[in-house]
Amino acid sequence: IVTLDEITQQEMLGKGQFGVVYRIQYQGETYAMKQIVKQTLIRHGKINSANLELKIMYQLDHANIMKLITHFEDENNVYLILEYIDGSNLYDILKRDTRLQETYAIHYYRQIVSTLIYLHSRPTPILHRDIKPENILITQNNAIKLADFGSANSLAKDELRFTFEGTYLFMAPEIYMNKGYTQCVDIWSLGVLLFEILAGHSPFLNKEEETSLMTHEKQSVIRENVLNVRIRFPDTFPPLARDLVRKILRLEPQDRLRLEEVLKHPWLQNAEVLEQ
Ligand code: ADP
Ligand code: MG
Ligand code: MG
Repeated sequence: IVTLDEITQQEMLGKGQFGVVYRIQYQGETYAMKQIVKQTLIRHGKINSANLELKIMYQLDHANIMKLITHFEDENNVYLILEYIDGSNLYDILKRDTRLQETYAIHYYRQIVSTLIYLHSRPTPILHRDIKPENILITQNNAIKLADFGSANSLAKDELRFTFEGTYLFMAPEIYMNKGYTQCVDIWSLGVLLFEILAGHSPFLNKEEETSLMTHEKQSVIRENVLNVRIRFPDTFPPLARDLVRKILRLEPQDRLRLEEVLKHPWLQNAEVLEQ
């Protein structure tokens, strides 16, 4: 069992809604440590979410999913000791470069889709529910590592989920409509992600609206656009990718392209292989 005393805490690697992540040294090895403040969870009515995050992560074993090594807790915090990813995340890359070159986009997207196939095709499927650039890390070798299972949950056959969970810009219409939903919500987020990595902004909020609107105004613009599936492609958007986005972002969950079909789509078929 690990305790804080045995760990040398180094710089902060990132920060999300519930966690602060540090690089640490433990027994001569480098890891990442996600510290979740229990009071923050309680304030948001999510006291159980850290337990669920742990339970789900311990079940997972995939080259493109960040590994949970161990965990411990004290009075105030839960600590997750994670595989350290020496690299960047898609959010920071997009902030720096605005959008991805198509070759890189295809290379990353294939890996993201395959990772979701792994999650959704488990005996009890796992919904990630927070697929977005911040939660997709990229290693020095251009491998993706899916992170942040803090919103994830499993789904038994014929079961539906109802919690209003996720990030506005990436949330599927059925979540807004308060209908029961399934893993198809991750497929929706994947469509939003594809648009965003190639366009450099969200399909439901452009750069102008992003900077000029107040938070509550943004939320209603997004909601309106999501519920009407109003996607505004820039002229430069690659035509094959545009076709794929249209086939994923469908109002009815059952009309969305299945993940196996996403992998077979022509846009994903014609990439040069990146040097490792
Ligand atoms: P939250 O649930 O609060 O959003 P995340 O698990 O998403 O927390 O982590 C926040 C950020 O920390 C991520 O966006 C990423 O940039 C960074 N991060 C998380 N885990 C690691 C890791 N294992 N190695 C390197 N950076 C990480
Ligand atoms: Mg996160
Ligand atoms: Mg989270």
